[in-house]
Amino acid sequence: MTGVSEESAAREAIVRACARLHARGLLAGTEGNVSVRLSDGTLLATPAGADKAALEPGDLIRLHATGTVRHPVTPAEPTSNIEEAASVGRASSEIRMHVRAYQLRPDVGAVVHAHPPAATAFATAGRALPSDVLPELIVNVGPVALVPYGRPGTDALPDAMTPWLATHHVFLLANHGVTSLGATLNQALHRLESCEQAARILLGAALLGGAQPLPPGEAEALRLL
Ligand SMILES: [Zn+2]
Repeated sequence: MTGVSEESAAREAIVRACARLHARGLLAGTEGNVSVRLSDGTLLATPAGADKAALEPGDLIRLHATGTVRHPVTPAEPTSNIEEAASVGRASSEIRMHVRAYQLRPDVGAVVHAHPPAATAFATAGRALPSDVLPELIVNVGPVALVPYGRPGTDALPDAMTPWLATHHVFLLANHGVTSLGATLNQALHRLESCEQAARILLGAALLGGAQPLPPGEAEALRLL
């Protein structure tokens, strides 16, 4: 069983994460989706079409581990609780990507998907983020996968990610956006932000003639930290 306090804390955390993603311009309007795996294996996720700047804890939906909506009340127990009623929403079609990550990665407790502009520019140009330039990226994010296009909202997207799921935490999705995994919601959020920060720096360096790699052996040494 999942305690009320665990679920309510996760609801608050997801709302804060979405507000932060929107405030930092890492998604626009209803874009993106965030989920957390609760201790009983069920998921708490942003509903389809929700404005991430105006999300409230009661808007989030509980899902079975398979991604189907877990209705909070049975038909025999109608509720007048507006928060419970609101929580019977529709899951984002992109929840398939989250479910695949949770199924294949027992260590993952949260998934953040957004459309950060600089990192998505790399994904859209088919350019990988170099893994031998920025220590922050090497230490805190690890290698960033460049995933071929898969149509959003279909199994093509999680299918395209699957070859990298065992070994990567962050995924540039071609012609689409970025997905980040973490043991906690904060870790997934921080990885996505670090990926975007690195992409911005690398774009700036490209304008100035190109990023210089770290000294020989340094990237390998950082990966061992
Ligand atoms: Zn998306």
